[in-house]
Amino acid sequence: MDKKIKIKNGLILVYTGNGKGKTTAALGTVVRAAGYHLQTKMIQFIKGSWYYGEKDGALLLSDYFSIEQMGKGFYKIIDDDLPEEEHKKAAAKAIERAIEILQSEKYDIVILDEINVALDTGLVQIEDVVRVMDAKPKTCHLIMTGRNAHPDVIERADLVTEMREIKHPFQKGHFAQKGIDF
Ligand code: ATP
Ligand code: MG
Repeated sequence: MDKKIKIKNGLILVYTGNGKGKTTAALGTVVRAAGYHLQTKMIQFIKGSWYYGEKDGALLLSDYFSIEQMGKGFYKIIDDDLPEEEHKKAAAKAIERAIEILQSEKYDIVILDEINVALDTGLVQIEDVVRVMDAKPKTCHLIMTGRNAHPDVIERADLVTEMREIKHPFQKGHFAQKGIDF
């Protein structure tokens, strides 16, 4: 039986806030959507230089899911020694790629991971992000993740969830763990 469904009323979903689970929530949607044979593309802003489990995890779901890492890694934190211009160039490319992917109408769900952070840190401008949101066809869901979602993004979204930190092992000095955090 062909389970493939058609999306009639595509939504804009935003996962933001300081608590853990934003990217995880977006990745969870991929598994659920694959159950209906929906095609998902994830574009990762910021992320690029480090390894994340989802990179190879996606290969196991490759009939339905693919990831393009378009960032240059952490911006202005940890081991970042790249010039700001390099990060900005990468983010500008990611914006254009997001628009191309949305307009291709090849994907049922498009996830823009950490796009809120790219905007919040000034790597991209709100006008760029609005262009992306406007490029979304009606037949596609768009998921945007990252802390500090811009008020205009929240205004335009259909669903906004704020992850709120109640406890995180980081507070007790525990480091990020494979399969849970990255
Ligand atoms: P995840 O990718 O685990 O769903 P996230 O997308 O909600 O996390 P980000 O802001 O993208 O959170 O942070 C990325 C990394 O920081 C992840 O390794 C995540 O586990 C960790 N992290 C998220 N929230 C917190 C927090 N409140 N305190 C410490 N580390 C956090
Ligand atoms: Mg994240």
